[in-house]
Amino acid sequence: MAASDDFIPVAGPSITDREVEYAADAARNAWYQNHYSFNARFETLFAETIGVAHAVSLPHCTAAIHLALAARGIGPGDEVIVPDVTWIASIAPVDYVGATPIFVDILPDTWCIDPDAVEAAITDRTKAIIAVDLYGSMADWRRLRKIADRHGLFLLEDSAEALGSTYDDRQAGSHGDVGVFSFHGSKTVATGEGGMLVTGDPALFARVMTLRDHGRPPGDRFFINTEVAFKYKMSAVQAALGLAQMERFDELIAAKRKIFASYKERLGDLQGVAFNAEPEGTENSFWMVTVIPDAEYGLDKFAIMEELKARNIDSRPFFSPLSTIPAYEGRQQSKRFLPAQPKGHAIANYGVNLPSGYHMDEAKIDRVAKALSDILRK
Ligand SMILES: *Cc1c(COP(=O)(O)O)cnc(C)c1O
Repeated sequence: MAASDDFIPVAGPSITDREVEYAADAARNAWYQNHYSFNARFETLFAETIGVAHAVSLPHCTAAIHLALAARGIGPGDEVIVPDVTWIASIAPVDYVGATPIFVDILPDTWCIDPDAVEAAITDRTKAIIAVDLYGSMADWRRLRKIADRHGLFLLEDSAEALGSTYDDRQAGSHGDVGVFSFHGSKTVATGEGGMLVTGDPALFARVMTLRDHGRPPGDRFFINTEVAFKYKMSAVQAALGLAQMERFDELIAAKRKIFASYKERLGDLQGVAFNAEPEGTENSFWMVTVIPDAEYGLDKFAIMEELKARNIDSRPFFSPLSTIPAYEGRQQSKRFLPAQPKGHAIANYGVNLPSGYHMDEAKIDRVAKALSDILRK
């Protein structure tokens, strides 16, 4: 098969001998008194890298969001303000705890939650804001922090897609009261499945540690549970993969930024195509290179995906607004603050994520860029 016929997947990790050796070491040795050694090393390095006091390794990021809401005591009758456009995992845990998600619009440049829309949606039932650093872009953390403090709201930062991005020289995940990360195989740091919760709040951290272990306070040796809770732990082999990946943090973030720069070099001249934003005071780790061609091209995201697929190139659609998908059908309460024509709907209609995994070398980027140019020029 000619090289140009090779299929290009949309995402994938960078796995070296270091990951393989650590995972084998964990499989052989992380038992008995060493059963948590790789988790502890992974958590310590992660907390240091993000610049927060506490980190806890979890089976996935969804668990981290669930635990954060539960630890804050958010439940039935409470409202949680969320962006209308994000992956459903950011929001699904609001239902798990019995609270109501309140969808608000996103900003046209960063694609992150609009602080004005957040303010307009605050009621006496509002308990928390979940802001998402979408596709590596950073939300407007200065304004979100002010709003949260003024109204006494819990601020949760979903940085699952922004590991290594910075805002005001501080890492993604360090701007919320809690930050959460995913190590799904498609993410910037991968352990297959996996997640991390970080926080600078020792009381919240202690509460999370109890809730994630069936209501056993840390250090409990008697197996007498103080409440009915959850079981959310990461295995040692996954933690070993994560530790190896975090030891390569600078290299991985540089690789992501290079993939974006290479695409931008080839596609930057296309008229009416927006890319991931990197406003003053931020650095974007570009989890997924994302393009939004103007409506004038006459191609929605699914049409572009089909054209790419015909050229053996995988891609992903921009997340569809939660207010429009069957999962939230009939949730009028959740949709009551959205404008008639949300900005997010237009963005989500045309946006496509291009192949952005660590397998993307210059030749592959060249092929995808040429394909996209052809499709848009047709
Ligand atoms: C991937 C992702 C999650 C969920 O991560 P899991 O580890 O699959 O639970 C949450 N939020 C966003 C924005 C994500 O992209």
